Amino acid sequence: MKKILVTGGSGYIGSHTCIELLNAGFDVIVVDDFSNSVAEAINRVEKITNKKITFHQVNLLDKKSLNNVFHQEENIHAVIHFAALKAVGESVAHPLEYYTNNITGSLNLFEVMKNHNVSNIVFSSSATVYGDPETTPIKENAKIQATNPYGHSKVMMEQILIDTNIAHQWGVVILRYFNPVGAHPSGKIGEDPEYPNNLLPFVSQVAAGIREQVTIFGDDYQTPDGTGIRDYIHVVDLARAHVKSIEKLNTSPKQTHIFNVGTGTGYSVKQIIETFRRISGKKIKTVIGPRRPGDIAECTADTSLANKELNWHAEFGLKEMIESAWKWQSTHPNGYKS
Ligand code: UDP
Repeated sequence: MKKILVTGGSGYIGSHTCIELLNAGFDVIVVDDFSNSVAEAINRVEKITNKKITFHQVNLLDKKSLNNVFHQEENIHAVIHFAALKAVGESVAHPLEYYTNNITGSLNLFEVMKNHNVSNIVFSSSATVYGDPETTPIKENAKIQATNPYGHSKVMMEQILIDTNIAHQWGVVILRYFNPVGAHPSGKIGEDPEYPNNLLPFVSQVAAGIREQVTIFGDDYQTPDGTGIRDYIHVVDLARAHVKSIEKLNTSPKQTHIFNVGTGTGYSVKQIIETFRRISGKKIKTVIGPRRPGDIAECTADTSLANKELNWHAEFGLKEMIESAWKWQSTHPNGYKS
C-alpha cells in the first residue's frame, strides 16, 4: 500500500482527506502540531474507517524533527500539505508570523522531501490567490492578485512548487479551494473553531444558540440580493479531489497541475442563512453590517479543468452541505470537547 504523508492531517480539511485516503487503500502518516486541531480528530478518523494512522506531533518549523519523521517513515509516495495558518484578518495583523509559519514551514518540508527523494506533492491553495477577479466563474489562468499576507503566502508557495517542478521534476498538484463547508456524513468529525471567521461556522453557532446573531457584511453589492456570493464546496467532495490528485500524479507524473475546486454554483449570504433556517428549523437572527474590508462581491469557480483532467466532480449540493454542518454542530456544541 502506498504511503501518503499528510501535514495538518488533524485539521478540518486534513481529517476529512485522511478518511478518503484510508478508504481508497492508502497508508496514512499524519504530521501535525495541534496548534489549531486536536488528537481526538485522528481517533475519530480511525473509528470511522476502522483503520490506523501513524501520527507524529511535529511543527514544520522544527526541521530536525521533521527530518526524523521522513527518516523513520521510508518510501513515502507523496505528501499532501495542509499545515498552515489560515485567517485572513489575523494575517494582516501578524504578517511576519504568517510568513514564518507558512513559508519557512513549507520550505523546511520541501527541503526534507528533497533530501529523502520524495517528489510528489499535493498543495492546499486557495481562490484567494485570484483577489478581486475581473470575471466569474474564474478559470485557473485568471490573473493572480492576492490582497493580504495569507493570500500572498499561498501565491509564493505555489511559485516555489512550480520552480521546484522545473528544477527537479517534482510532480505537483495545486488545488485552489473555493469555500469549504459541511462535515462528514457520520457527524463524527467537522470544523471546530473556537471563534469562527467564516460564514457557515458562524451561522451554525447562532442556530445552536452559542452566539446571538449573524452580521451580514454588506447588502449593497452588485448582486441580485445585495449580499456576497461564494462557491461553497462540501468538504467531503474537496477531500476526494485530493485522492484524485494522487492518482493524477501517477498517470501524469513530473508535471505541475493547477485546479480550481468548487461546484461552479454561487450562493449569496442571504441564501445560505435562509437555507440554514429551513434545514435546522432554528431561528437565526441577522443584522446588516458594513462590508468587511477586502471582501469581494462574487467568487465562483470554473471547474471544467478539474472535471476533465482530474476526473473529479462535486457530488454534494447545498442541502447536504448544510445538513451535515448542522448534524455536526447540533451534536457537538463544543466541537471535539463535547
Ligand atoms: N460573511 C458575513 N458574515 C459573517 C461571515 C461572512 O456576511 O459573519 C460573508 C462574507 O462577507 C462573504 C461570505 O459571507 O460574502 C463568505 O465569507 P467567508 O468568510 O465564509 O469566506 P471568504 O469567501 O470571505 O473566504
